[in-house]
Amino acid sequence: MTSPRASRLEALLEACSGQAMYDMAAELFPLCRSITGAGARATLARIARDLPLEIVEVPSGTPVFDWNVPPEWKIREAWIKGPDGSKIVDFADHNLHVVNYSEPVSATLSLDELRPRLHSLPDRPDWIPYRTTYYDRTWGFCLAHRQLEALPEGQYEVLIDSDLAPGSLSYGECVLPGKTTDEVLLSAHTCHPSLANDNLSGIAVLTALGKALADVPRHFTYRLLFGPGTIGSITWLARNRERAQRIRHGLVVSCVGDGGGPMYKRSRQGSADIDKAMAHVVGHFSANSRVEDFSPYGYDERQYCSPGFDLAVGLFERSKYGNFPEYHTSADNLDFIAPEHLEASCRMICEALDILETNRRPVSRNPYCEPQLGRRGLYQAMGGDAHRAERQMAMLWVLNLADSRHTLLDIAVRSGLPYARIREAAERLEDKNLLGTQACPEPMET
Ligand code: ZN
Repeated sequence: MTSPRASRLEALLEACSGQAMYDMAAELFPLCRSITGAGARATLARIARDLPLEIVEVPSGTPVFDWNVPPEWKIREAWIKGPDGSKIVDFADHNLHVVNYSEPVSATLSLDELRPRLHSLPDRPDWIPYRTTYYDRTWGFCLAHRQLEALPEGQYEVLIDSDLAPGSLSYGECVLPGKTTDEVLLSAHTCHPSLANDNLSGIAVLTALGKALADVPRHFTYRLLFGPGTIGSITWLARNRERAQRIRHGLVVSCVGDGGGPMYKRSRQGSADIDKAMAHVVGHFSANSRVEDFSPYGYDERQYCSPGFDLAVGLFERSKYGNFPEYHTSADNLDFIAPEHLEASCRMICEALDILETNRRPVSRNPYCEPQLGRRGLYQAMGGDAHRAERQMAMLWVLNLADSRHTLLDIAVRSGLPYARIREAAERLEDKNLLGTQACPEPMET
């Protein structure tokens, strides 16, 4: 027996192919993204091939709360030529080679003069670091430490052919209306250049998820937001101050393509529905899962959870930002992420959304002792499959806790069983008229 609710989750999961997500990440990998500019725009255009994305351009200089939209960065060419005149570092080879948002320069420098402009990782001598200078006007190059160490004395010619001029900041949003105008926000940053886990994994997972969500019935309205980290969410919030109040649940999604974790960081509220749902989902996924309290560092949850908004928005990751060696280096590449991890991450988000969409407070119509299940065919319905005992326990737990004080998620947590199993048991019992329910979905204050 498949209920409409169960089939919705199945449809979501079926539509989310890890290989398709990986292929999208691979397609976007070569682009030189930044917080503004052509790479970010091309990334949004790619997302818009899969989603009904509205792309918004906000002019440089626009005040957004305490910030201003920065000038737009255009980068055409950047290289260093060694004393023998050959190019030794070239942006054309890897876009991490230039410090992101570098101002233009054309100069000839001695090695001593050049050295402070060069960034490397002494403890990871073969990797190129990722550096940015969004809000300080300066310039620089990044290279492997091994290469830096081998540079001979002499004169070096450097060129960065870039512009920092009035333009605009681009973000994209896709709104999928549901039965209610209450919203679920799903947010990924789009500003990192050739880095796979941090941020292409989030972009690819949310694009696939949005595409799948578009085809299933929705209680909530879903808003998928793709924009540059920090300044993008600040800009969106500044332009949507009222609308933000409709956000009931939200997730920032980043670093979801590797096999670590999973890790969930709670919203500032700490025990919002999304916090309970994600804690349950990651806890059942792996013994290595971690749930952390909110802290005002990380990704765009910092803005969504700023005190004036205090939205129920948490952060979902596999390996935690800053805690894996490949983070913000050239080693965060397409070898570091894998289709199966992207798919598993997407599955976890789908499961949490299923909880948000279907959680309710069942009320037993038969609370005086256990109803006779055999007479109603409910023991036979459990079948002889491997999950028979679990299905039976789920039914007994639901019947016992269906006192209008416990939600299905509460029952899942208390029983230690996966939410989907509890929901399925409740649906069986509802079909046999053994349960009533309060309107779905109910708030989950318990
Ligand atoms: Zn990052």
